[in-house]
Amino acid sequence: MTDIKKVNLLGLSPEKLIEFFESIGEKKFRATQVIKWIHQKGAESFDEMTDVSKALRAKLEQICEIRAPEVVSQNISADGTRKWIIRTEGGKNDCVETVLIPDGDRATLCVSSQVGCSLDCSFCSTGKQGFNRNLTPAEIIGQVAIAIKSFGPMDPNGPRRVTNVVMMGMGEPLMNFEPVVDAMILMMHDHAYGLSKRRVTLSTSGVVPKIYELVKRTDVSLAVSLHAPNDALRNELVPINKKYPIAELMEACQFYLANLPDKRHITIEYTLMSGVNDNEEQAHELAELLKTLECKINLIPFNPFPHSGYEKPSNNRTRRFQKILADAGYTVTVRTTRGDDIDAACGQLVGDFQDRTRRSQKYIELREVKS
Ligand code: SF4
Repeated sequence: MTDIKKVNLLGLSPEKLIEFFESIGEKKFRATQVIKWIHQKGAESFDEMTDVSKALRAKLEQICEIRAPEVVSQNISADGTRKWIIRTEGGKNDCVETVLIPDGDRATLCVSSQVGCSLDCSFCSTGKQGFNRNLTPAEIIGQVAIAIKSFGPMDPNGPRRVTNVVMMGMGEPLMNFEPVVDAMILMMHDHAYGLSKRRVTLSTSGVVPKIYELVKRTDVSLAVSLHAPNDALRNELVPINKKYPIAELMEACQFYLANLPDKRHITIEYTLMSGVNDNEEQAHELAELLKTLECKINLIPFNPFPHSGYEKPSNNRTRRFQKILADAGYTVTVRTTRGDDIDAACGQLVGDFQDRTRRSQKYIELREVKS
């Protein structure tokens, strides 16, 4: 008898789970029961689902599974940052990173969406590695489950162990659209992780058509990796800009905000590279560019890695850039590094897996230094 591939229920959105139960002749309330068991109580087997009939549990056992990606390693930094290397289904070296950064009563999880990336941003080693594969919804939401379970058994009534999620790890999330949307729906759904839509953020390098599509499907917060105030420079740093130049990107951002049900802002990510995009004129140009967009700006001093070809700006240059923007009326934060002792800090390689993520340059956040 040939093996039948079991359906992994971990990655099914609530809607798809209902469809699944109906397709096997079950009532849709079963989907609600099962989704709560998986995502709120952390069940890994159907046996644990005590309010589901024995007959149905046996049936599910035959045709389904609840399978999170494999954790290759977990490290906890002295500052509380947790980092996991996670092996996906693609094979032994198909690994991504997930990092949890606690900050007071918040804990932000940085989640990967692809193994590698095809967009080849000049300052990003994930881009240099090329594109390997898209993560499945189970591999994306599985990163959230792994982080929460690392604190012990899940407790739906306990304090939140992950309060914020940023789709800002390895890969361009909008190039893996459907799985990312399904996973984000689970992050926010009341029967799953129940995170606020303001606390789930998708970060994109500017896949413009997908920004229009995204706001029709979900209302997560949006961050844009801009990194340059004009097309000439952005074409060099973020090559997708040649296809979707800044003016089109800004228009898409305005559309996104205008179509959200509530008032929000876009987060502009700007990695500062010494002598490349960090001079005073460029700060003024950036201030001018963003003047009609509701936004906050995050400056990320570049953290060099071998052969990157870029350098971190001095603190003075960073402060000057920040001040120009702050004087122009923007809320500007500068990110600083965490998790150095577990190689989760900016610009640090991931052991032998070579799967540096852009998080290395742009996310690991100790604290935000407000201007
Ligand atoms: S910065 Fe983001 S979009 Fe660009 S290559 Fe790296 S992972 Fe891909």
